[in-house]
Amino acid sequence: MPRRRLYYLRMPPLTRREFVCAIAATAAFHPIRGVRAGAGEYDLVVKGGRVIDPSLRIDAIRDVAIAGNRIASIATGIAADTAQTIDARGKIVVPGLIDIHSHFGRVSDGPAICLADGATGFIDAGSQGADHIDDVVAVARTAPQTCRVLINIGRAGVLPEGDTMDLGRADVDAARNAIATHRDVIAGVKARLSREVAGDHDAEVLRRAQQVATSFNLPVMIHMGQTISPLPTLLELLKPGDIVTHMFAPPPNGIIDDDGRVLPEVLAARRRGIWFDVGNGRTRHMRWDIVERVMSAGFWPDTFSTDWTPEGRTEQVFDFPNVMSKFLGFGMTLNDVIARATLNPSRVFDFFRDRGTLNVGAPADIAILELRRGSFEFVDNYGNARAGRERLFPAGTILNGRRIQRKIA
Ligand SMILES: [Zn+2]
Repeated sequence: MPRRRLYYLRMPPLTRREFVCAIAATAAFHPIRGVRAGAGEYDLVVKGGRVIDPSLRIDAIRDVAIAGNRIASIATGIAADTAQTIDARGKIVVPGLIDIHSHFGRVSDGPAICLADGATGFIDAGSQGADHIDDVVAVARTAPQTCRVLINIGRAGVLPEGDTMDLGRADVDAARNAIATHRDVIAGVKARLSREVAGDHDAEVLRRAQQVATSFNLPVMIHMGQTISPLPTLLELLKPGDIVTHMFAPPPNGIIDDDGRVLPEVLAARRRGIWFDVGNGRTRHMRWDIVERVMSAGFWPDTFSTDWTPEGRTEQVFDFPNVMSKFLGFGMTLNDVIARATLNPSRVFDFFRDRGTLNVGAPADIAILELRRGSFEFVDNYGNARAGRERLFPAGTILNGRRIQRKIA
């Protein structure tokens, strides 16, 4: 699976030539240029927002014009004529957010909830296994935005007693049959490997997940942290394009050693094309002291994700912009943060390839955010609070060129 790395987002800026190559590689879109159209050319114009799009290296006050379901122009002073307009002055206008680890598929209104929060694409990561995959597939099929599902290698899905504590539940044939039935919606395999989920057969569970995934050329996402096996043992079983979620999980078996150094096997895994994802969640996945150490070691996440569940709606997670906000406190710029919720996740799964950008010609998926300054408290999975002076809030969504009316309270 070809995976172009995105180190340039945290490394020195590209040369002009490298940048042009990078953009040319993203998609065959038209070059960005504000083409002044005649009256009635545009259907919707987002006026006067601070447009931040790391794929285009834009961070400036611009109008964004949409024609049909595509981005038609980014420029200053676009004449709206008869087009509908959205006043985005004082707001931030970014490509639609892409959440690659969530559980919005668990509830029928999950897609609408995250859409209102700005997520124009999401992955339900392992809510269900083969036995009940139809439930989550049905939600995915009716979601207004692009939604795919990772099948849990545990055939009964997420279980309080541990998805694959009974190794018999890691059923390769059952998972393969489910994928064959829903090949258009199932986009990978999820393996939850913590001690309380997989007991002492974490490596065997992962091997089986990989057997299933490779037969369909799909990625595996592993849930790391508090495993019985050391992380390097598990990383050895991953292939380029696979994803490690819960990268800030505290020990045992986190990504750093006792001295706060990132394990060499983790660095090697990233070099060979394995993605490292946040997976905020609510229990045992994120602790501020670990985040601090990993971030200060320079090992930044490739992607942010919520690991949202209905319970997360009212604590810790809340919404994707809130999860993004937490990293403004760890040395990331707003651009760095936006990249990890737009451009970078668009590279992880092929069907998001033309998303995560406001380039002219791209699908008109846009999140409008509000950056509020004040005193905010961010709580990790262990009840530790961390103060922040900025927080992003959802302020509007455009999907396929259509403004989403916020119905969620
Ligand atoms: Zn999860």
